[in-house]
Amino acid sequence: MNLAALRHPRPERVKTRIWPVFLPHQGCRWRCRFCDQHLQTGRPDQELAAIHDNLEQELAGALAAGRAPLEIGFFGGTFTALPEKWQLRFLDLAREYRERGLLTRIRCSTRPDALSAEALAGLKARGLDMVELGVQSFSDRALGASGRGHDGEAAREGCRLVADSGLTLGLHLMPGLPGATAKTFLDDVDASLAFAPATVRLYPCLVLEGTALARDLARGAYRPTSLAAALALLGLALSRFWRAGVEVIRVGLVPEEALLSRITAGPWHPALGQRAASLALYDHIRAHLAASGGRPTGLRYPARFQSEVLGWRREMLPRYQALGLGAENMRPWPETFFLLQTG
Ligand code: SF4
Repeated sequence: MNLAALRHPRPERVKTRIWPVFLPHQGCRWRCRFCDQHLQTGRPDQELAAIHDNLEQELAGALAAGRAPLEIGFFGGTFTALPEKWQLRFLDLAREYRERGLLTRIRCSTRPDALSAEALAGLKARGLDMVELGVQSFSDRALGASGRGHDGEAAREGCRLVADSGLTLGLHLMPGLPGATAKTFLDDVDASLAFAPATVRLYPCLVLEGTALARDLARGAYRPTSLAAALALLGLALSRFWRAGVEVIRVGLVPEEALLSRITAGPWHPALGQRAASLALYDHIRAHLAASGGRPTGLRYPARFQSEVLGWRREMLPRYQALGLGAENMRPWPETFFLLQTG
């Protein structure tokens, strides 16, 4: 009998709480075919001045209430294409509250083709810590068919600019874009790894009511990815990112109430992230078994990972059974590591 201790393959992370400030479509020159930030963020159109004033009041209230420090993130638009005056006003406000101890770090999301080395240096000097780039894909075909307005080289150049600026880089990828395939998505994962991002978010492409993609779907010009295919791709992507030590901080859109009723098609599932993580964890255990060449006779797993091991509605059990494991020889235990027994 052989015993092997395994760690969960997900990189250890310090949990960060982020105060999201949504600027839906602010700075966007047009709408990408799949995008509706009002639905995705649950926020209506608002003047930047109103968003800024609300934020100022909320930050003052949070400080007075003794709220624990947290990060702030400006999301939902193209932050680096806002009028410069507004980029600086938002950053100055955030920096003031960082100096007063309420905020720890400042991040924003933007498009890869709305950057320059000079602008990034200026934002960094003004207090910005991190840029989350909505790359979505590096494939010329997928970017073209999605109406992104730039090619794969521009996406790579955006990543290079952030990486070279000394700001922390985060990336967003979108499997299932029009013009994309399973291969282009997995190539996107590998291309992302080349820039060593600190974090990644994976948002499978959904068809939202009223978008250009919904019209493409209606005329038969777009076929969404099935849930099963999306889960398989997300599981593979998680495995690759985890192996490289990259934190995947989100899988799937946040289920805003207004959003759910407006999803026309696409791989939506409330437990998408958990299901993908279950697949990646299973792959890790299976790869270890394959490398050891042994026949599995038992698995102890940390109790806190029970739902991830067994999967949503215990859907992973048949896969473990195919390996020779099952309800009879897989048990939770209080340790923090997995123990795999082979005969
Ligand atoms: S995907 Fe990004 S750049 Fe495109 S419309 Fe949405 S927020 Fe704007």
